[in-house]
Amino acid sequence: KKKKEKDDYGSINNTEEDDEDDVVDLAANSLLNKLIRQSLVESSHRVEVLQKDPSSPLYSVKTFEELRLKEELLKGIYAMGFNRPSKIQEMALPMMLAHPPQNLIAQSQSGTGKTAAFVLAMLSRVNTLELFPQCLCLAPTYELALQTGRVVERMGKFCVDVQVMYAIRGNRIPRGTDVTKQIIIGTPGTVLDWCFKRKLIDLTKIRVFVLDEADVMIDTQGFSDQSIRIQRALPSECQMLLFSATFEDSVWQFAERIIPDPNVIKLRKEELTLNNIRQYYVLCENRKDKYQALCNIYGGITIGQAIIFCQTRRNAKWLTVEMMQDGHQVSLLSGELTVDQRASIIQRFRDGKEKVLITTNVCARGIDVKQVTIVVNFDLPVNQAEEPDYETYLHRIGRTGRFGKKGLAFNMIEVEKLPLLMKIQDHFNSSIKQLDPEDMDEIE
Ligand code: ADP
Repeated sequence: KKKKEKDDYGSINNTEEDDEDDVVDLAANSLLNKLIRQSLVESSHRVEVLQKDPSSPLYSVKTFEELRLKEELLKGIYAMGFNRPSKIQEMALPMMLAHPPQNLIAQSQSGTGKTAAFVLAMLSRVNTLELFPQCLCLAPTYELALQTGRVVERMGKFCVDVQVMYAIRGNRIPRGTDVTKQIIIGTPGTVLDWCFKRKLIDLTKIRVFVLDEADVMIDTQGFSDQSIRIQRALPSECQMLLFSATFEDSVWQFAERIIPDPNVIKLRKEELTLNNIRQYYVLCENRKDKYQALCNIYGGITIGQAIIFCQTRRNAKWLTVEMMQDGHQVSLLSGELTVDQRASIIQRFRDGKEKVLITTNVCARGIDVKQVTIVVNFDLPVNQAEEPDYETYLHRIGRTGRFGKKGLAFNMIEVEKLPLLMKIQDHFNSSIKQLDPEDMDEIE
């Protein structure tokens, strides 16, 4: 796996002239998912818990009241519209708020309430009478740090004496400044600088240390080592918490190095299935032909919103121009755009301002746009060996079985690619029917 070198701003500099969007930017995806997600992701799995001390009783809470929080914090939670703890919060919050503090490693997919949980833990542990940094949260990029900071500000709206500060490059602190804010959120490089070189933060006074998005963190050169250097300087009674959306071995190894004596909480990810998706294919001669078929489909059925996947940036661009010239409202999500630009395109699509989103594989991987009813594979996903890329196919089209809406998927296939499609059909053991684009009656 390629490691990304990134500056501390977390900016994405796609200087490669490459036609393929070949690098999945985990930090960018994570940010986009945060920006487009407005509610909890549901799960039908049970939370798995591994206690540091298996003989101690295991508490879970069904309400926020049971946590005996400060009044103003509870008010903040309700003001955010939270009624009850999420699945992961039910188990994580009692551990995080226990006395004495317990360390925790928690893994669950994005959108399951991890950030809200550790923000709550930080806010509840701040002593407002003390004016120095007490909680430290490391995030992989500037933008992700800001997102977490916003949650602190919203949840802590009524905790008027609690303040946040961002340790991110570009936030210049004059020499000799006394940092009085209790919660510091920042990227590892700048935090390290503020602690050791500039002595703005006294790590021995930190009570809660949070390492967020550990999977993204270890994907970025230097961040693991910097995080470990920071962690080593914390007092032994400091509570240490680590969160990750995924749990590959590498994340796990890192987590175990940096979090002593942890409890572990896991919530398995909902599996994608093709069960509630009707899949079709249209045989085409060439690109022009595919486009014509697409227009026929588009004209032939009532389309909600559609995502169209192309294999290369060049194809995606070509298709966007064609569709626009024909008067369709489409937008193009591509790897050359900045994260902000991508976020705003996804937001507009989410709000229904555009009906069609055209994109490449990598650019849309891991981004959830739930209300989409139609997915078009303008090109079949293939790997470098020109074999079908099953995982990507499933990712584009699949939904989570229990909560997903029914969907429709169309594959535009050149005759010579048909064997690939048949392999996909066999692989998933699900039928993909041929469609005559002149005759749409079959679908509706
Ligand atoms: P994660 O950090 O796992 O990605 P977040 O904490 O960001 O998840 O939560 C995902 C979304 O769900 C956010 O919009 C957040 O405001 C909301 N959320 C979190 N906890 C709750 C809750 N207990 N009840 C309702 N919504 C919640």
